Amino acid sequence: MKPYRPGTILSSNTKCGHSINLPIAGHCRPTKNCSHTCYARKGRTALPSNKRKQVWVSNYLKGLDLKELIEECKTKKAVRLSGTGDLNKDHLLGIRRLARACPDTMLWGMTRKLEIAKALNGKYPNLKLMVSIDSSSPAEIQKYQGTLCWGPRLATDVVPKDKRIHTVFPYHNSGRIVNGVPEDKKDCQAVYHRIPGCHECGRCWNW
Ligand code: SF4
Repeated sequence: MKPYRPGTILSSNTKCGHSINLPIAGHCRPTKNCSHTCYARKGRTALPSNKRKQVWVSNYLKGLDLKELIEECKTKKAVRLSGTGDLNKDHLLGIRRLARACPDTMLWGMTRKLEIAKALNGKYPNLKLMVSIDSSSPAEIQKYQGTLCWGPRLATDVVPKDKRIHTVFPYHNSGRIVNGVPEDKKDCQAVYHRIPGCHECGRCWNW
C-alpha cells in the first residue's frame, strides 16, 4: 500500500484563504476559554481525514525537504500558519526556511505560545505571529510586549484598552456571532461577513 500523502499540503477556506493546518493534540496549549469554544474541534477540520492530514503536515514541517510546500506557498499572497492547532518548537526551522524561500508570501497567524512568537517575529518581514490571549489566559502571557490578538471574546469579556491588542475575535460558531456577544471596534470584520476574507483585509499582518 502506498504511504499516505495529502493532495495539497495547504488547506483552504473562504475566510482565511490558505493555511497550514496542524493538530490540536500535542500542539495546542489551550486556555480554559478556548478549550470549550475551539472551532477546530468540530465541523470539517475535525473530520478523521483532516485530522490525519494535520498530523502528516506537522511531521512534514519538521523535515528538511520542504520543496513541495514552498512551491504551494510561492503562488499565494498570504498563508496562515496554524489555521488549526499551534506551532511547536520543532517547526521553527521549517517556518524560517519557508519565509526565506517565499519572500512575496505573507506568513501570518496566531499562537498561544510566547516562545514561538519570540522565535519567529522580527526575523523576516513576511513572517508575523500575534500572541493570542483571552480573559482566561495566564498572567505571564499577558505581559508579552509584542502584538496581541484577543479571542474568543465572550459576552462577559471586557477587552482592555491596550495598544498591543490589534485584532479581536468575537466568539462565533458555525459562521454566526454567538448570542449576546456585543461588537468591539477591533473585531475581525469577516466574522460579521462584511468583507469576504483575509485577502481583502490583511489587518492581522499589517503591524
Ligand atoms: S481581521 Fe482581517 S486578516 Fe484578521 S482574520 Fe479577520 S479578515 Fe483575516
